[in-house]
Amino acid sequence: MQLLRASDPLISADFISAKDQLAYDSAGLSTVADLLARIPKRYEDRRAFDAFPLQVGGGSCCLRGRVVDTQVRGFGGKGGFFEAIVEEITGDGVGGGVFDSNKITCRWFNMPWMKNALAAGHELVLYGKPKEATRGLKEHLGRIVMDHPDYEIVGEGEHESISIHLERIVPVYKGVSGIVQRRLREHVFGVLEQLDASSIESVYDVDASYPRLEALREVHFPESEEQAQAARRYFALEEFFALQLSVLWKRARYRDATGRELGKKTALLTEFYHSLPFDLTGAQKRSVKEIIADMRTPYPMSRMLQGDVGSGKTFVAMCAMLLAVDSGVQAVLMAPTQILAEQHYLTFVKWLEPLGIRISLRTGSRQQDNFLSSAEEAESESILSPQMIIGTHALLYDAVEFTDLGLVVIDEQHKFGVGQRAALIKQGVLPDVLVMTATPIPRSLTLTMYGDLDVSLLDERPAGRGEINTGIRVKPKVTDISKFLKAELSKGRQAYLVYPLVEQSDRLKVGAATVEYEKWVKRLSKFSVGLLHGKMSGEEKDEVMTKFRDGELHVLVATTVIEVGVDVPNANIMIIDHAERFGLAQLHQLRGRIGRGEHKSYCVLATDGKSPDALEKLEVLAGTSDGFKIAEADLRMRGPGDVLGTQQSGLADLKFVEFLADIPLITEARKLAEKVLIDDPLLEKNPRLLKLIEDGDVQVG
Ligand code: ADP
Ligand code: MG
Repeated sequence: MQLLRASDPLISADFISAKDQLAYDSAGLSTVADLLARIPKRYEDRRAFDAFPLQVGGGSCCLRGRVVDTQVRGFGGKGGFFEAIVEEITGDGVGGGVFDSNKITCRWFNMPWMKNALAAGHELVLYGKPKEATRGLKEHLGRIVMDHPDYEIVGEGEHESISIHLERIVPVYKGVSGIVQRRLREHVFGVLEQLDASSIESVYDVDASYPRLEALREVHFPESEEQAQAARRYFALEEFFALQLSVLWKRARYRDATGRELGKKTALLTEFYHSLPFDLTGAQKRSVKEIIADMRTPYPMSRMLQGDVGSGKTFVAMCAMLLAVDSGVQAVLMAPTQILAEQHYLTFVKWLEPLGIRISLRTGSRQQDNFLSSAEEAESESILSPQMIIGTHALLYDAVEFTDLGLVVIDEQHKFGVGQRAALIKQGVLPDVLVMTATPIPRSLTLTMYGDLDVSLLDERPAGRGEINTGIRVKPKVTDISKFLKAELSKGRQAYLVYPLVEQSDRLKVGAATVEYEKWVKRLSKFSVGLLHGKMSGEEKDEVMTKFRDGELHVLVATTVIEVGVDVPNANIMIIDHAERFGLAQLHQLRGRIGRGEHKSYCVLATDGKSPDALEKLEVLAGTSDGFKIAEADLRMRGPGDVLGTQQSGLADLKFVEFLADIPLITEARKLAEKVLIDDPLLEKNPRLLKLIEDGDVQVG
């Protein structure tokens, strides 16, 4: 038997044709290794098929049956479909007989060519979700149907292949255009049989007790669910290991660079601390300590500060920047937008001017300093340079003359993108870098995507904030909401009413802010109601916000524009209409607008309550106000691609994202990677791995 090597083109296998090779090429699977790396998207246990369903309600099922009749219904016009009546084949291969309950109707809509694919007599394996026909032809109503099931024709004289496709757990792959599932499976099976084991050894063995060839066999053709799971874990571990290697390598390179030893003098920090009207939270103190320790090393700091909106990140940043200034270097704060930069500037001037700090605002359109008036009297040049510069990220690229840049604080990592940090590395002596983010990132993602950063967490809300009560209301009565609102407004509180849309849409029957606004004006005639949405001009928005902040408006009917930058401690009520239409992260950010004052706050999530998924989502929110727990749930429910955006996060390449919730696995991968990087001899013995790491192209498989 001819042995196949991992790097061989697939056509080297005598059972794979030139035409197949072309099909594989266009799917990006050119070699034996590529094909084997196509991990099954799911498995079907064909050792025992599910019984034909007599009723609906369960999940997906895997059935074995024979086509007894096919029909094309109404093609040409709209709503045409192809149907196949499939009869159960029981274990001994005998048809089910006379009862209708042993039959199921499969339907494929708008796929007229199906009539050439399926015919009476075909034996099928079907995978899909049975349901009851509720529309369509009269004789269909109430029948159990499967629409667009995955199907596979079995039998047809391929006697040898029986052991591949039946009586075992079979893999089901993401499709390759031009190769039917069955052939794809045979190809993988065949390639595995003829594989030269030495050619698929990995550059680094993540699990000495589990040979890679065995894992490869078991991930494709497992003998049990457990085996499949173990094999998938093996490859997930490999993948995370590769990721950790490159992340830790980057981190080590940044670490080895020359930095400054800052933070030895703490006089300014101490003065600031004593000037505050409140005590820092435990989490703030802990974070400041972690930052001081980093700054004091001769290596550049590379740290991320994570905390919900309002957790006090800005004050931690001020502490770090004061430490830098005390060491005689410049500190820079970069915000994602001009407005936020201006806000930061005002905050900094308010708190730090009393300490005599020279602060400059530099944005595209504005330059302002808090110390220039005295500049004319100043004698030496050095006194003229600001000690802190606050601006937008354009600061990095514009020719802002940093005199002696020691610390860079980047606000809102997500909006910046990871690349900006790299821009700093161009300079000779690297500044310390602190990245702040208000988007809670699940720990597993922090470890994988931001593993080159150390993390400080602000997981504690400053004292003196009222508790937020969150409730889900299914189709609440307007009169109830109205009554509740009036009661709170009469006590002097304020409220946000949030709607998903600005204007009424024909397509979506959900609340539109403009329409609901008119209604609330009438309902709450004793109070003043304002409207805020994204289609208003900046000035209009500012005017409305100012009125709301000053208490001239009691109620704000709004869209999600209130998500960022609004701080009105007296507002303690938020009612979110059609809450199911918002993402978890977004709901969490919205809710962050209340609970900022001393009063108890209420968040009402109103929903029409149709889908269990939506309810599950809202229950997460009602159950916790911990941003990290919410982020973990979001990751679990939507997957990392949707949570962070695959494009942005580079997650698109991860095959094993299903394991992203598995922190122990990721931690294990990290330990392995640390061992490799610290244990030099290991790298010396493994020049191939070293080269891969250096090229930043670690792929262990
Ligand atoms: P973030 O930047 O995380 O959104 P800020 O630093 O802007 O949070 O702080 C939010 C609000 O909380 C500010 O009004 C600030 O004055 C206040 N604050 C910050 N830290 C504390 C604290 N330890 N105790 C009380 N209030 C605090
Ligand atoms: Mg902030």
